[in-house]
Amino acid sequence: MIIGNREELIQATQEIVRIASVKEAPAGDGKPFGQSMAQALEYALEKGRELGFKTENFSGYAGHIEYGEGNETVGVLCHLDVVPAGQGWSFEPYGGEIIDGKLYGRGTIDNKGPAMAVLYGLAALKDSGWQPRRRIRIILGCDEESGWECMHHYLPLAGKPDVAFTPDAEFPVINSEKGILMVELSGEMKAPKDIELLSIQGGNRPNMVPDRCQVKLRGIEDESLLVKTAAKIGAKMEITRDEADITMVFKGASAHGSLPETGINAISYALAMLVNLGFDQGIINDLYEHIGFSHDGRGLNIEVRDDVSGPLTVNMGVISMDGTRVTVLVDIRYPVSFTQEQILEGLAAGLPSEVTLQSHGGKGPLHVDGNSMLIQILQQVYEKHTGEEAKLISIGGGTYARALDNAVAFGPVFPGQTELAHQPDEYIAISHLVQLAEIYSDAIAKLGQGK
Ligand SMILES: [Zn+2]
Repeated sequence: MIIGNREELIQATQEIVRIASVKEAPAGDGKPFGQSMAQALEYALEKGRELGFKTENFSGYAGHIEYGEGNETVGVLCHLDVVPAGQGWSFEPYGGEIIDGKLYGRGTIDNKGPAMAVLYGLAALKDSGWQPRRRIRIILGCDEESGWECMHHYLPLAGKPDVAFTPDAEFPVINSEKGILMVELSGEMKAPKDIELLSIQGGNRPNMVPDRCQVKLRGIEDESLLVKTAAKIGAKMEITRDEADITMVFKGASAHGSLPETGINAISYALAMLVNLGFDQGIINDLYEHIGFSHDGRGLNIEVRDDVSGPLTVNMGVISMDGTRVTVLVDIRYPVSFTQEQILEGLAAGLPSEVTLQSHGGKGPLHVDGNSMLIQILQQVYEKHTGEEAKLISIGGGTYARALDNAVAFGPVFPGQTELAHQPDEYIAISHLVQLAEIYSDAIAKLGQGK
């Protein structure tokens, strides 16, 4: 399929990028995520109607653009919300400028460009006279970057497609995503004689490896003891003294919470320091003993793995203290052949009774069989368009595909391409945008053939 309406695709992408659809407070009926988000959704639906498709707006939470009839539905799950522009841009973040063949702006790759590529890819199919045997539905979510409220509202009303892909991650095909479970562990801090722990604070989000943890102590006369201990445990640490109070700041290296082994956890070093100073009881010691520097859940009684996903991972993401109670937020990614209940049972059995375990829930694992029709078709399409082998990818992170069943992530970023989502100077090359329209058009054509 050659995309005939290339110029319209480029123009529509520019125009929708110019609508700064960052989540905001509700702005009345049909605008649960603010005025701009509602406007971006209506823009895309209007384009859908102009191209001759049926559309439906689900009270501003999400919408869909539909073509054809059938008992079964092929879904393409995109989103039109964007993260804030942030600092460091050399171009207007919502300008939609094209410079040297690259279309710049927040959302160009994540996920407005791919959404428009899917729409114009479907339009090209329709213009060629193609009739699907299954219903095709382009689903447009408006809250992917936050709490997925869009899908919580939309799916009970519209139902899940029978089969789907989302152009919101990477090529070739991501068919396996570990389960995500967030838990809170808390307990009473017990300090050794003569030392007072005034505060411990580290990390911002459970799904990031914390690169900083600050500990305030009272009762240490000789700072050289701290310096020696830091050297012994291999910690990068800075000390400041304010009369009797000492503040230690531990430095780590940030990484995504699904890849804890690629970062350096500053909380682990803070705990190691405290245990070395005599905090050998209570929650500080429990956290050190049961998590410490490990990422595989071995001290938590949840060290499991399977052939598809590899090992479970544990990230101690945030630590805080309220009075004498210390709390950590832990992000656990478990392999696809396990359930959240199994992991919670393992934890409950593995933790001492003085540690309080509270589940914050999470998202179940996703795995689509490599021999399924969906995967086979996407692999064929990818190989035909790129000449490269379409390897299946298993990840610990979560893509939008997880909102559905029988869905996988398929593009838009090619292997070796720099990941520009959420970065300054986000762009999509025009050639990339057009290639996406061709690939997605073909994928829809083959999936829409049905049985
Ligand atoms: Zn996205």
